[in-house]
Amino acid sequence: MEERGQRSNRRLVLVPCPPQGHITPMLNLGSLLHSKGFSIVIAHTHFSHPHPSGFPNFTFASIPDFLPKDVLSSGDAAAITANLNTNCEGPLRQVLSDMMAQDGATESKISCVIYDSLMYCAEAAAYYVKLPSMALRTSSIGTQLIFSELPRLQKEGYFPPKGMFNPHIVTDNKLSDIIPGAYPLRCKDLPLFTSDPEPMVQVIATALDIKTSSAILWNTVDCLEEQLSDQVQKQYHVPFFSLGPLHKVAPSLPTSILEEETDCLLWLDKQANDSVIYVSLGSLASMDEREFAETAWGLANSGQPFLWVVRPGSVRGSEWIELSPEGFEEAIQETGCVIRWAPQKDVLAHRAVGGFWTHCGWNSTLESISEGVPMICQPCLFDQNVNARYLCHVWRVGLELEGDLDQKEIEQAVRRLMVGEEGKEMRLRAAALKDQIKLSIRKGGSSHTAIEELVNLIISL
Ligand code: UDP
Repeated sequence: MEERGQRSNRRLVLVPCPPQGHITPMLNLGSLLHSKGFSIVIAHTHFSHPHPSGFPNFTFASIPDFLPKDVLSSGDAAAITANLNTNCEGPLRQVLSDMMAQDGATESKISCVIYDSLMYCAEAAAYYVKLPSMALRTSSIGTQLIFSELPRLQKEGYFPPKGMFNPHIVTDNKLSDIIPGAYPLRCKDLPLFTSDPEPMVQVIATALDIKTSSAILWNTVDCLEEQLSDQVQKQYHVPFFSLGPLHKVAPSLPTSILEEETDCLLWLDKQANDSVIYVSLGSLASMDEREFAETAWGLANSGQPFLWVVRPGSVRGSEWIELSPEGFEEAIQETGCVIRWAPQKDVLAHRAVGGFWTHCGWNSTLESISEGVPMICQPCLFDQNVNARYLCHVWRVGLELEGDLDQKEIEQAVRRLMVGEEGKEMRLRAAALKDQIKLSIRKGGSSHTAIEELVNLIISL
């Protein structure tokens, strides 16, 4: 068996996908594998990448992505992903070939390329230069399961969910009916991104396909998704490793692209245990002026202390909170704290935080469950509906907030979660999941074992 100290000659090239929710788990995986003795190279696109100065243990290589400005500003996730993959394959091959040429004169070698599934061009680039590769899935297994069923659901008329964009279309499948064989998901939880689903369906199919990679790595944990993992594993001929939650198994890193306002932790220090609702819709979701005002008054009138992240630009038509309704700032002086970006993991771990109103991105979902914090679930796009359904109906640690945002409903949801009987029960279930996760990452636990097996596999390549 190779000694850990000898592994620094083994380089792993990690290829993240640009959005924050994808970069974070890849950097955490890098941190984990670095702690196991490997050298880590982050090969990143020009567009939206982590700042090398925050990661003295990693080396960085830049891949020109030639992303056209109009594609970038369109916000069309399918077009951006397809363009990135088409444009980056050649430059990535070149980056890998150059590194291999340098290695020729030294003891180092690239052991493996580990890529975000949405950067599938890396599988082809690695194969071209004769390097092994592995795919990292940054969403849940539940999401992968339903995404891989889209062709069947398309045939059976469940997808695209008719009437989603045009309520006048008559539909056999009511949007709120559970899809047979896909509990707890309904037609309206399927990932419909625009009125034409085809480009995204193509991107998803390509990302889920494994051609030459040696393994699939998941940022998930058996105590949440073991049964689903068994089902999905049948679709692949390569081993699976549920390694997560990656932010818990890896030495911590400054993964945030935006600057964190850490002063909010001092504000939290002044609040009572489990009293604060933390509100954040992640790095991509946005709202209009009406939704912003309803949220503001719903929170203010709930009477609960709240910490609210309003990401710059996330209220459409304004830079930050210029569109705050009149009287709101005075009304919340005692109870609220509004910031641009939070140190989210520290916030969720703070004793004062008793609930999280979230958009249910997979990272936020794992971060909240890992700290035993129950949630109000308001999914906006991509896989968030799927996560919200599992949170509310399978793990039962979340309340669904659906339909048009309304201040009265928000106020009630906050009270139900923070001071109601239902909230208390959810908090207990969330605490039990937190304990199970702790066990999973200890020696002998499922994630701990999977990490050891992965390290052995990489060494054997
Ligand atoms: N995040 C953060 N500060 C904030 C809001 C979010 O650090 O104020 C982090 C959060 O901890 C998570 C990531 O941003 O790791 C968001 O990822 P997620 O998958 O939850 O959602 P996405 O942003 O991709 O929609």
